[in-house]
Amino acid sequence: MLKNKISREEREDFYQSKYKYFRKVSTFAAIITALCEISYFVSDCQIFGRFAYETLVPRLSILVPLILFIILAPKVTDYKKGALLNYLIAHGAMWATIWAIVYLPNKDFSREGFIIMHFAFLATGLAIPLKIHIPVHGLLLLNIIVSNTFNHYPHFDLMISLALPLYIGCCVLLYIFENVYADQYLMTRELQKTSITDSLTEVYNRNKLEDIVDEKDEHLKVGHKLEAVILMIDIDYFKRVNDTYGHDSGDKVLVSVAEQIKKCIRSTDIVIRWGGEEFVVVLSGAESSVGLNIAEHIRSGVESTDNEVCPVTVSVGVSRYDGGNYTQAVKHADEALYYAKEHGRNLVVHYDDLAKDES
Ligand code: GH3
Ligand code: MG
Ligand code: MG
Repeated sequence: MLKNKISREEREDFYQSKYKYFRKVSTFAAIITALCEISYFVSDCQIFGRFAYETLVPRLSILVPLILFIILAPKVTDYKKGALLNYLIAHGAMWATIWAIVYLPNKDFSREGFIIMHFAFLATGLAIPLKIHIPVHGLLLLNIIVSNTFNHYPHFDLMISLALPLYIGCCVLLYIFENVYADQYLMTRELQKTSITDSLTEVYNRNKLEDIVDEKDEHLKVGHKLEAVILMIDIDYFKRVNDTYGHDSGDKVLVSVAEQIKKCIRSTDIVIRWGGEEFVVVLSGAESSVGLNIAEHIRSGVESTDNEVCPVTVSVGVSRYDGGNYTQAVKHADEALYYAKEHGRNLVVHYDDLAKDES
């Protein structure tokens, strides 16, 4: 069942994703439904045995919701508004049919007409949460019951007993579809997560850049403040750790350093394993002084943490990001890191201080 697969917190994202995935099918179905409604004018003429001018306006009345749909549908991205629009066509077609039936000399064929309506609801329901579909599709039966008060369908009881199992069948089918989509949704999400996660340290890998760097001008998407502090962190003499204690112990140290970094940052900050034993941290919206504080926190934290292998230290290069191409800020952090390495390691150096020193 869906509630066993998708948690309550994930539900909105899941429904939104389902809407996005089936949106085209559902939009196509809505347009076809409206066109079918107009084409039923042909069967009206067959029933009358002449041009059925009486049902022309009722059948064409579907154009009103159709035009509204065509104007609004491209602008709608939210699944709840999308549901409203799609069912507007399905129910609009239902009421256009009911209106046309008022004039039909033989109302017996309305049974078939209403049965066909279920398919319009089925196709529309693909993109919509089942919990919304069940009551809205259920209204189809209510439409028949209400319209029977003035249309007086022959074999009304038969009409309902035929429609009811079809309604239940459609809901069961949509239940299956929703669960199949839930499996696909979970699988895709897992794949997306693993593609941007470093398997050893469980921080992001460089693929994460695709999410946070704008494709066009390579600026960092760091929220409304547009500024950030970049930290470039590198473990000191890490080669020696590997050479002395072995690669597996080296891995253990790497994991411990990554954990220490994660401990010192906020949930909105991003840690990327940049290379072998090098990490880049993006502190979104942070000022330089805050960035320096966090960098110092990381440096002293690593120095005092027992990683169960050997004491290690890190050097940190810090730089400011004020918008524009992010590579320049990373280059500056790298230069500051190089300076820290050259000046004894286990140090935090800000690029701006280097620039001051040089001038
Ligand atoms: P420095 O203080 O100048 O940074 O010296 P260093 O020895 O840390 O620098 P160097 O870049 O020469 O060495 C990095 C080492 O990191 C080399 C490589 O074997 C090791 N390394 C890279 N990736 C991994 C990994 O995934 N696991 C382990 N255990 N070691 C790694
Ligand atoms: Mg190193
Ligand atoms: Mg290195």
